[in-house]
Amino acid sequence: MFCPKCGHPNNKEGLFCGECGADISHVSAPEPAAALKKPENAGPWIALSIAFSLIALLFCPLLFGGLSIYFGYRVHRAGNEKLGTILMIVAGGCMMLGFLIGLFVYGFFKMRHVLP
Ligand SMILES: [Zn+2]
Repeated sequence: MFCPKCGHPNNKEGLFCGECGADISHVSAPEPAAALKKPENAGPWIALSIAFSLIALLFCPLLFGGLSIYFGYRVHRAGNEKLGTILMIVAGGCMMLGFLIGLFVYGFFKMRHVLP
């Protein structure tokens, strides 16, 4: 922790500042407070949600779109509620768009008599 008086870095066990001698026994370290605000790291869930939304556009929209919505939900639960909601909406949109693209491609090949 840092001394509130002179800013000298002291080890956690110290009761007095090693530089100026100020009482630092009541000073709490800033790390636990910051950790309490972020109980879970949403970073991987954000990346997964975006990646699976993009996959859903091209391949198996029901499966990957559904997973992407789930990852957006995990971002929401990890404390990032606004971004989580946006990710879930984007995932739903990609799922529907991927489904439409799939129908369009299927219809295109069907017209060309490639598929039965
Ligand atoms: Zn000090």
